Amino acid sequence: MNFKPTVVIIEDEKNICNFMETTLSAHNYKVIAASTGHEGLSFITSCIPDIILLDLGLPDMDGVNVIKQVRKWSMIPIIVISARTNEQEKVLALDSGCDDYITKPFGTSELLARIRTALRHHQNAGILTANPEGIYSYGDLSIDFTKRLVTLKGEAIHLTQIEYKLVSLLAKNSGRVLTYDYIISHIWGPYADNNNNQILRVNMAHIRRKIEKNPAEPYYIFTEIGVGYRMRENLSNALL
Ligand code: CA
Repeated sequence: MNFKPTVVIIEDEKNICNFMETTLSAHNYKVIAASTGHEGLSFITSCIPDIILLDLGLPDMDGVNVIKQVRKWSMIPIIVISARTNEQEKVLALDSGCDDYITKPFGTSELLARIRTALRHHQNAGILTANPEGIYSYGDLSIDFTKRLVTLKGEAIHLTQIEYKLVSLLAKNSGRVLTYDYIISHIWGPYADNNNNQILRVNMAHIRRKIEKNPAEPYYIFTEIGVGYRMRENLSNALL
């Protein structure tokens, strides 16, 4: 196994950049580091990396513009490196097309896990489209997308149509954060208004009562406060 995924890191904070570079090199990634958006973009177009790690606060441009530039021509996975407090920033980055974010400060195992997940999603995207008879499964929960059947410990769970749409959207994107706006526009259409935020929350509460042992401490669907929801990654994806 000589395949070394190539990572472009765009980060102007030297110590964070060095930390990521050292960690990733030690784990069989080929690392190319840039400290400005322009430098990063030129590395991306010249080496076509397997994944991009992107800081949003860059000296020469907003990282969101890097996402938009790349998304014009490529679906290379992008993970944003974000400050803890800035939820709006994360939402904007996700809606612009980044795949995930890591909050500073972060540890080695989180960084590596997020990268593996993003790479896997990217690789599986084609497989899953080619094989729509997918099954989501994690713990006691399983979803059969062809039969539109949700089961918990083998027992069918009755969901309303909206609840099913929500769960299957999250499950098909499992492991990724979906922003509130993304979910709302996918379920209620692009002209949905602010009331839908409240309706989304109510539906999520109903879903949790049906699938979670303790809805206050969800096990399957997590709230990313101020950003959106993330469902546990499909185990059958992870095994592909
Ligand atoms: Ca920065």
